[in-house]
Amino acid sequence: MTDCIFCKIANKEIPSDIVYEDDKIIAFKDVSPQSPVHILVIPKKHIGSLNDLDEEDTSLIGDIFKIIKKLAKDMGVDEEGYRVVNNCGELGGQTVHHIHFHLMGGRKFSWPPG
Ligand code: 5GP
Ligand code: ZN
Repeated sequence: MTDCIFCKIANKEIPSDIVYEDDKIIAFKDVSPQSPVHILVIPKKHIGSLNDLDEEDTSLIGDIFKIIKKLAKDMGVDEEGYRVVNNCGELGGQTVHHIHFHLMGGRKFSWPPG
């Protein structure tokens, strides 16, 4: 997708603070962090939202969660706890239409979310 900001980040067309990368997945710091640790983990291929996941994406999503687990440990928030968020669609609060998972940590989160 040529006009997708996260595709551009995955293709290194625009800079980001990358904390993990392999052939299918990239993770980078959120430009507007809402917690001391705030990382976005995305597939490199364009998937608009959770609604657009196919059967063939099951292992990709599993791999994304493996990376989230690793990053939580690397960032030192695994023991104290953290939050993983996927916003889907308008009411879900999704603003970038390339599926992404927020890894957030380093502070106490409230429930329910706003
Ligand atoms: P959403 O609201 O769609 O779940 O989350 C989108 C996130 O992407 C927001 O937290 C926002 O700060 C982040 N974001 C938007 N544009 C950029 C960008 O160009 N670079 C980075 N690193 N993060 C971005
Ligand atoms: Zn995209």
